[in-house]
Amino acid sequence: MLPQIEDLLVLQDRDRRIAMLADQLEKLPIDEARARTKLEADTAAVDVAKKAILTNEMEIKKVELDVDTRKTSITRLRTQQFETRKNDEYSALGHEIERYGKDVDVLETKELELMEIGDSLRATLKSAEEALAKTKRLVEEDLKSIKERFGNIETELEETRAERKQLAESADPDIVHLYDRLLKTKNGVAVAPVNNGQCGGCHVRLIAATLIKAQSKEIAQCENCARILYIEP
Ligand SMILES: [Zn+2]
Repeated sequence: MLPQIEDLLVLQDRDRRIAMLADQLEKLPIDEARARTKLEADTAAVDVAKKAILTNEMEIKKVELDVDTRKTSITRLRTQQFETRKNDEYSALGHEIERYGKDVDVLETKELELMEIGDSLRATLKSAEEALAKTKRLVEEDLKSIKERFGNIETELEETRAERKQLAESADPDIVHLYDRLLKTKNGVAVAPVNNGQCGGCHVRLIAATLIKAQSKEIAQCENCARILYIEP
């Protein structure tokens, strides 16, 4: 194989590596966002559970107030009943006391129900908080490893770029120029092997003259896609 082609193959390998690393680097913020979204969902679940408890507590307080109001009314009515001398007024007040008493029973039953709901809401909050704590730990680990990966990829990218620069500088400038031009337009494959008489880049059958050229000590290019050709040893 021509030494220039050997240089180009190393160069192409480094360029592929650079493209792959740059691609990985670009995708890391997506991983990071995904990790953060997970945390947001679990944080929202805790907020929802907390709000539900607050609402429940407010409902209980309202019922307690209603009970107090009715109990005050009952006390007032009992005083009136005690003071009256009229039989019909006495029994009318008695009916009213009874009605308020029933209200109090209904409200107290409701309060018990609300308190039971409160217990299950607190259990929901507890598990939501536990899930959040677990997610937080996982997300923190994820973010840490993403940061590490970011640093590692950046370092490797820098090193590979430096190596690439050196390779390009030490190779034949005309060939490197041709290679660079092809790399941009040929989807990252500027140098392609000859496979069964076909160009490994575009798969078009090569003419005999090109094949002979590729086998000799000359730079051969595919007549269809212009890629630099080489014969695999
Ligand atoms: Zn071709």
